Amino acid sequence: MPLHIETPLIESRPLSSTANCSVWLKLEALQPPGSFKIRGIGAACEEYSRRGARRFVSSSGGNAGLAVAYAGRRLSTPVTVVVPETTSARARELLRQEAAEIIVHGASWHEANLLAQSMIEEADAFLHPFDDPLLWHGHATMIDELARSTMTPDAVVLSVGGGGLLCGVIEGLRRNGLGKVPVIAVETAGAASFNRSLQAGKLIELASISSVATSLGAKRVCEQAFQWSKTHSMRSVVVSDHAALEACERFLADHRLLVEPACGASLALAYAGSRALAGFSRVLFIVCGGATATIDQIREWSTKAAARREDL
Ligand SMILES: *Cc1c(COP(=O)(O)O)cnc(C)c1O
Repeated sequence: MPLHIETPLIESRPLSSTANCSVWLKLEALQPPGSFKIRGIGAACEEYSRRGARRFVSSSGGNAGLAVAYAGRRLSTPVTVVVPETTSARARELLRQEAAEIIVHGASWHEANLLAQSMIEEADAFLHPFDDPLLWHGHATMIDELARSTMTPDAVVLSVGGGGLLCGVIEGLRRNGLGKVPVIAVETAGAASFNRSLQAGKLIELASISSVATSLGAKRVCEQAFQWSKTHSMRSVVVSDHAALEACERFLADHRLLVEPACGASLALAYAGSRALAGFSRVLFIVCGGATATIDQIREWSTKAAARREDL
């Protein structure tokens, strides 16, 4: 029994009118732990369980950690999440709600991850947030659902952090005979590790992340995401934090759903009527969701981003 739910696929009137094409939304924000991550992480946790794992370990203070905590509770398997001190109060509260053991350690994810890795014992499974084929197989189920509908898009828009979602969506397109449908990969300016790698023609590691879209904050994307850029039709787009935040506020007003800036980044293409959408008539947006940002946090970031823009 999968741990994710089948999500609604709806046409959006407000986004279609600003995007100048028909915009369809795959509402992954409605997954119980708040993002698409449960598809892949749920599938991986089930598989590790079958292989005998008696504990799940994660070092993510974001949606990956939340998905592991949710999966562990559903599978009656204990979960330990090691997070850095920078992890928001909101994220800690959500992890506690899922009854995960939380260990706060280190100034950044790097230190938290080192501790998590050192804790792994024989019967533990470590869940990587994006670089695991089991995750991609699970993420691909969102495209299986699309393929069962009557809607065939001529492009798919999605956000890229470490590239797990990208790998899953492309796997899903290919296994459903949709391998020719191009993917539009969106990042924010301070977290554009995929865009930079495409420009350089090789995998690039960013020195640091400077975006409010923390869920896109992988300094380096997985090798498979980079490989797909050579064989799958793709466009890469970078938007500002300001545009991503504004999209979050407009999406809340239009569809009554609060998503993280990581997801707002994708939606920003529709709200801006982006040139990246030119030539497409029916576009699927993966509304990846994200549970770690409150509306107060988003408004505070917006005010700061607007002030920075005025400085320019
Ligand atoms: C994890 C995440 C992403 C990025 O997914 P990757 O697989 O790391 O590329 C985007 N949006 C949200 C809300 C996420 O949780």
